[in-house]
Formats: sequence, C-alpha cells, structure tokens
Amino acid sequence: MNSRDRELGMDRPIKRRDFLNGVAVAIGAPLLGAGSAFGAQAGAGAPQTPSYPPALSGMRGLYPGSFTTAHALRDHTFWKNADKPSDTGERYDLVIVGGGISGLSAAYFYRKIAGDNARILILDILDDFGGHAKRNEFDIHGRKLLGYGGTYAIESPSPYSPIAKSVISDLGIDVTADARVRDTKLYSSLGMGPGIFFDKQTFGSDVLLPDPKPEKDADFGDPGTTETHWKEFHEQAPLSPAAKQDIQRIYEGTKDYMPGLSPAEKKARLARMTYAKYLTDIVGADPSVVKYFQTRPHAYFGVGIDAVSAQDAWGFGLPGFLGLDLGTEPGPGISHDSIQNEEAEKYWFHFPDGNASIARLLVRKLLPAAIPGNSVEDVVTARADYARLDEASSSTRIRLNSTVARVRHLGDVDTAKEVEVTYVKDGKLQSVRAGRCILACWHSMIPYLTDELSERQRKAMASAAKVPIVYTNVVLNNWTAFQKAGVNSLYAPGSFFEAVQLDLPVSIGDYKCPRAPEEAIVVHLMKTPCHPGLPARDQHRAGRVELYETTFETFERNIRDEFARALAKGGFDPGRDIAAITVNRWPHGYAYEYNSLFDPFWLEGGEQPCVVARQPFGRVAIANADAAAYSYTDAAIDEAYRAVSDLLGTARA
Ligand SMILES: Cc1cc2nc3c(=O)[nH]c(=O)nc-3n(C[C@H](O)[C@H](O)[C@H](O)COP(=O)(O)OP(=O)(O)OC[C@H]3O[C@@H](n4cnc5c(N)ncnc54)[C@H](O)[C@@H]3O)c2cc1C
Repeated sequence: MNSRDRELGMDRPIKRRDFLNGVAVAIGAPLLGAGSAFGAQAGAGAPQTPSYPPALSGMRGLYPGSFTTAHALRDHTFWKNADKPSDTGERYDLVIVGGGISGLSAAYFYRKIAGDNARILILDILDDFGGHAKRNEFDIHGRKLLGYGGTYAIESPSPYSPIAKSVISDLGIDVTADARVRDTKLYSSLGMGPGIFFDKQTFGSDVLLPDPKPEKDADFGDPGTTETHWKEFHEQAPLSPAAKQDIQRIYEGTKDYMPGLSPAEKKARLARMTYAKYLTDIVGADPSVVKYFQTRPHAYFGVGIDAVSAQDAWGFGLPGFLGLDLGTEPGPGISHDSIQNEEAEKYWFHFPDGNASIARLLVRKLLPAAIPGNSVEDVVTARADYARLDEASSSTRIRLNSTVARVRHLGDVDTAKEVEVTYVKDGKLQSVRAGRCILACWHSMIPYLTDELSERQRKAMASAAKVPIVYTNVVLNNWTAFQKAGVNSLYAPGSFFEAVQLDLPVSIGDYKCPRAPEEAIVVHLMKTPCHPGLPARDQHRAGRVELYETTFETFERNIRDEFARALAKGGFDPGRDIAAITVNRWPHGYAYEYNSLFDPFWLEGGEQPCVVARQPFGRVAIANADAAAYSYTDAAIDEAYRAVSDLLGTARA
C-alpha cells in the first residue's frame, strides 16, 4: 500500500464486501467444473449462505458473478457445457422472468384477473427482488440507515397513467404526503446548499465553490441555484477569463443566435445538433465551457452534452436560449426527459430506500408473510423474510438467484398449450412448465433466451441498449465536514463521481433521518460511465465494459480521493469519516430512450423498435421498461399491465 492509499484510509476496516471480487468466485467455480461457464455461475452468482441481501455492502447491483450465465448465453458457450435440465415437476399458470417492478406488477395484475389462487412463479438472476429498485441497509452506531441503490423516487417527466396511479394508490402510497415526510429546509437551515467541485485534472486546480446564497436543495447532480449566483463567485472558479465571460453570457445573454428562422425552424435545427456544438459553433463560446456543462444531462440521459441535442438541452432547462424566442411547445424529436409537465412534477415521492419500497409493497401484496406489517409507514423499517419468498405452499413464489436460460413453447408456437422455462439455480439446470410466460427482463437479453422470435423482433430487442450507471452509498460517521464546507450536494463535472448528495431528509413511521451534522448519514454518489464523442448507444456499450472492468478497490480509492479533495476545507478525513461503502453497479441500467441525434424515426416519424420488440408470441408476452423505451417506474408498471392484457385480453386494474 502506498502512502496516498494510507492517507485515504484504504487500509481501514469498513463495511464492504470486496472479497466477493475474488474469493467467492474461486469458491464457486470448482463446485461445477473448472472452465465451464455454466459451472462458474452458481457459486459466483450468489452469496454462498442465505443472507439478508439489503444489508450486504461492497459491490452490489449487478454484483460479480451474477451475470456469468447470461454472458455465457450471449457468447454461445452456455449450451455446449450444459447438462440436460431436470424437470422440477412444478406447473404454473404463469412464469415471469424478472422480479423488478415490471415483473412484480405483472404478477399483481395477473392475480387481479385470475384470482389469488393463480399459480405464479417469478424468477430473477439476483439475490434480491426489485431489480433496479434496490434497497441498501446499514447498521451503524446501533442505528439503521437506509439508502437507495437504484430507483430514487416516484417521478416521471410525463404524468403517471391511470393504471400506474391505481397501483400506487392500491399500495397505500399517498404522494401528497411528501410535504409532510420530507424536510426541504434542513440543510439550508444549517447554512448548506449546492456546490460545484472543479477538479485539478480537468480544470487545473481543485476548487470547491459553495453556493453563497442557497435558496433550495439541489437535485442530484444539479448545481441548483449556484449558477444563478454565478456573477458573485465566478472570480474563484479555475476557468479562463474568456470561459467565465462566455458562461455568464450563456446564462444571461438575450441575443438571438439564429436570426431569420421561425421558432419551429430553430427547434428543427436544434434537434439535429448537440448542445456542445450549439455552445461552441452557434453561441461562439470558448471550447473550454463544454467541460463545465459536459455532465449536466448525465443523470437523465446517461451521456453528456456531446450526445444530447440542443433542443433537449433547451427543454431540460440548460442555459443559452433566452434570446431565441422558442415559445413553450417542444418540437419534433424532443426526448421524454426534456418535456416539462406541471402535472407530472406534482406526482413525486421519495422513500428512504427509493422505489424499493414499491417493490416491497408489491411483494407484501403477493406474499404477505414475507414482508411483515400492513402500512406504508411500517414497510420502511420492515425486515423482509427471504425464506418465505419461495414456499411450496404459496400460490405465488419468487425464486431468486435463478437465471433463465431458455423459454420455449412445448409444440408449435401458435397451438402449444404450455411453455417450458429453463433456468440455472445453485449450479443446476432446471425446468418448470407454465400455461403462460411474461418476459419482464431486459430486452437485450431476450433473443438469447428464445429462438421463437422473428429476425425483425430480435433486431428491435437489440436496439434497447441499456444505459450503464452507478449509484453508490457511502456511510459517514458524521457530516460536519459537509457543513463546514457549506454544501449538501455537489456537481463535479470532471470527477470520478459527477454527483454527490447527502441523503434526502425523509422520516417515515419509525424511520428517522439524520438531522444533526454529528450523526452518521448516507451520502449518495452517481457515476455515468460514457465515452464522449461516440454515438449514444456506443457510449453505453463502452461504459458497460468499463463498469465490468472496474474493481471495487478502484471505486473505493476514487470515493476516498474525491471526498478528501472536494471537502478539504471542511476537514474531511476519509480514513476517519467513512464507515461503509456499497457500490450499486448497473451495467444494464436505464432503459434506452430515443434521441433525435441518433434515432431518425424519433425525429422524423416511423416505427419505434420498442413497439416491434414488445409484440407477444404464442403464450409469451413482453414487459419491462424497455418495452416503452422509457426509463421510469410508471413505464415498468404500464408495460406489465399491457403484457398481462396481451395474454388475457383487456386486464382490469
Ligand atoms: C440507477 C437507476 C435510478 C433510477 N431512478 C429512477 C427514479 O428515480 N424514478 C423512476 O421512476 N425510475 C428510475 N429508474 C428507472 C426504473 O428503475 C426502471 O424503469 C424500472 O424500475 C425498471 O423496472 P423493470 O422491472 O422494467 O426492470 P428491472 O428493474 O431492470 O428488472 C428486470 C429484472 O430482470 C432480471 N433478469 C434479467 N434477465 C434475466 C434472466 N435471464 N433470468 C432471470 N431474471 C432476469 C434482472 O435481474 C432484473 O431484476 C432508475 C433506474 C436506475 C438503473
């Protein structure tokens, strides 16, 4: 260990599960035959002993080994090494592949129609249910702290549909309670607000600029009101005088940079150029300002301003358009995330574990014994009983650590009466049969599970290139350094993690959020691995590879380094202050949303691949947020409803 690592506290005992990067993989492989992709899966893919998944720390999300079977299927090596599947003898009305919010919602809708006695099996690769709706728990100084490892909140750029709203209300969630459970003034009452961290490698020196007059809490990854106070503190920013002048001009200038064009013509042009190009070529800004704005769209688009259109930047609220007189109506090709909608904005709610609470409430509906309690308040602190998820006596069962490898009709697709679903669990290839099947898993995976798709549908599935993203939870023993530095959230456009935020102060039921800087707290960090300059899908692919190759140790070192440098003025000591780290790695993260720069059908009209991809075949229907090309919880619910309708006719909510 070098001296910098020692300074950063890389040798300190904290809660992390980094041993899984190596040891558990080594334990698993010999059980099933060295070199066998099929064999390597079992031990590596899941913890060896039944555990309580939300409390595991270290590398979570798509943890090491969980994807070995899936990648062997992709590489066409799986079936060469596989034994004959053994039939468990189980027969179901419905098997659902994928236990994310879409899969759980599909079970919920199916039971509404077929009744609670319908026999349903949900299979998922991971050791926890909920998919991206992931709960992280920490026991620290005798207190339980919660964090979200994925889906952050009930929020959507478009209004929730009546179907999605009906599920939320049936689960007992009242989104108007947000005003009661969330303290929107805690941090500002302590003199804290958003800040921007300029890092040395990108900007020449490490400088943290806190907002001098914070007006409201900033969103994750958003510099908040800092930039409207630009004039008052820009002298300290490590930017050239030209860049500073240009940034101020971009915020405040009222020049029409596209004279002689109508608003519609301007939007048509803006939809076809990147925001980066707009800033440099149309506004005439110094190229160095691109670095400053580069990661602003990351949280929504998973790429920077080199791959987001100027029209989207305008819709999204980025500056530089004051003099263009664009009106309020979006033009063709605008992305879902760039459309402002007041009704949608009002429908917002955050649980301390994000939308994992929605997944837990759905599981409670399906399997009441697994999630004790009976209210929205008590679900927040309820300890799920994982042993109750897959009991032979239950009509609905959730089987975790189970990667589905094949789905096929037993007979001709159009006339078969049954579907066989084959999966790997505990290193064994097993099969069950069902009257129907819903694939609520990622679309990019589906072509490897079945050869019953047309070439056109396979291609459409493959176009759903998931957006890689990392949500990391770091537990601090206290947050006095944040308070001394005057920040509760950071926009860090050149750093390893581009967004850092102290936990949103939400108290529900028995769960009380930390309120004093001396208390332990969860800090959330976001990283969107992308490769500027490439088309969006290629950036996502490259980012995915980067994520698979980044070890927990690299994450940890970068976390410690970024905190130490950004919070130096607050006296942050990473060796002393960090108590636990959980990295939620999502190489297959957000559903791909269409982008006017790379998807001509989205700009000019034409068939959307998600519509082709989600067509049912025989007794199999397709759900998942990918089916809507819309990366939100409501899409996962809506697509589940549509998939159930595809199988059973119009479903009743
Ligand atoms: C980091 C992050 C933050 C987000 N934040 C928000 C937010 O704040 N608000 C919001 O509305 N939306 C948010 N989203 C999007 C939202 O989480 C998703 O749209 C939604 O949860 C997707 O649910 P799903 O069931 O369609 O897919 P997933 O949650 O991805 O579930 C699919 C499941 O299928 C399983 N699976 C895949 N292949 C197989 C196989 N072969 N066999 C068995 N199982 C398989 C996977 O393990 C996974 O659990 C976020 C997403 C991410 C990644």
